[in-house]
Amino acid sequence: MAAKPVTATIRAYQMGFGDCFLLSFAYDDASARHVLIDFGSTAMPDKSKANVKAVAADIAQQCGGALDIVVATHRHKDHISGFATRKDGKGPGDVIRSLNPKRVIQPWTEAPNAPEGWTGPDGTSSAHAFAMQRDSLENMHAVAQAVVDRLDRKGGFDRRWPLAERLRFVGEDNIKNVSAVNNLMTMAGAPENNMYVYHGCDLDLAAILPNVKVHVLGPPTLKQSDSIETYAKSSEDYWLKTRHLAGLAATNDVATSKTSMLFPNLKSTDTFRQTRLPTEMRWVAERIDIAEQEQMLGIVTALDNVMNNTSVILLFEAGSKKLLFPGDAQLENWRYALQSDMADLLNDVDLYKVGHHGSLNATPKSMWKRFEKRGKPDTPDRLKTVMSTMAGKHGGKNGAPTEVPRITLVNDLKAESSLFNTEDLQPTQLCQVITIDLR
Ligand SMILES: [Zn+2]
Repeated sequence: MAAKPVTATIRAYQMGFGDCFLLSFAYDDASARHVLIDFGSTAMPDKSKANVKAVAADIAQQCGGALDIVVATHRHKDHISGFATRKDGKGPGDVIRSLNPKRVIQPWTEAPNAPEGWTGPDGTSSAHAFAMQRDSLENMHAVAQAVVDRLDRKGGFDRRWPLAERLRFVGEDNIKNVSAVNNLMTMAGAPENNMYVYHGCDLDLAAILPNVKVHVLGPPTLKQSDSIETYAKSSEDYWLKTRHLAGLAATNDVATSKTSMLFPNLKSTDTFRQTRLPTEMRWVAERIDIAEQEQMLGIVTALDNVMNNTSVILLFEAGSKKLLFPGDAQLENWRYALQSDMADLLNDVDLYKVGHHGSLNATPKSMWKRFEKRGKPDTPDRLKTVMSTMAGKHGGKNGAPTEVPRITLVNDLKAESSLFNTEDLQPTQLCQVITIDLR
């Protein structure tokens, strides 16, 4: 009889704004299995001694030099940048690659090529839709790149302006990370070891993770839910709008365009503005530039939401316990799972990885209310929650109700679960460690 898992240990690494979780199962025959879920960061905390290299080294040590499964929930930088390799073979992604994962799990939207005669993951008519979805993801990277190029351009936005930093943050998170994507595609050896999953697919990992059932709650396929398709359509509209926006040139135009600057002869420094523009014009110039930033932020935020909604949602069922890892899935991705017959699986979840670093629309209240193990500190078998986040990087600031992590959610997490937050780590600590008895 196959060995049974007796303990699950979750290491939530300090990645600043990013995710990296090592889920380790200890078995009753003294063996162990290791699953790495995401490895990326868009911004590390300033005073932290932790760094991506140290995290990679610790993962290698903790798993004894061999990973069983790598999960890359979606393609954002804050979830995959750590998988990037380097020419000298010393990148964090080289370390992960050397651990020879047996399987790499990604959302179906990442499948590099629709196989010959493939009809899509769930139906007969989605091969074309699949290609469209894939193209949309590629276009999203191009738009994100155009936004960042715009910020980098000489005479671009003044760094001191309020939206420039947020714009850069969201823009850079959506830029394609070619090295990491390629590494994920090949690190498990044969192509069939890459699994591109979707809601309800049969993920048979019995040979690799004995006696652990892994349920896939998301993302839905296009056929299962038109929510993603709707997003894709509206993001197609955005590409059009992008080209028509006065100040934001599409990728091809960025390098050559001379006319897309709102005030081409104006350097964007206050002194220059003050000396060259008539007094009555100065406030107009500044407001138009800010309006351009706001429009660009609206566009990249929409792209950001689409990509988040391609997140793989995995529920690990081991022994008597259930562990939920939803990546950055937002409401549109969750909605399908919550109205499906898999929703009841969520009722007795024991550990919840807080979705999207604690943002306001990634922990649907209807799901949160399902968790029966929520309760006061003395509740037996109380729900555990784990959140990797860094305040002040994403969403609104200064009390805006869109800040990440959202304070009202954090308050509920603290009141009704045992919350492990990477923000609470000391500068010398590499990770939060959570141990769960599976018996
Ligand atoms: Zn994220």
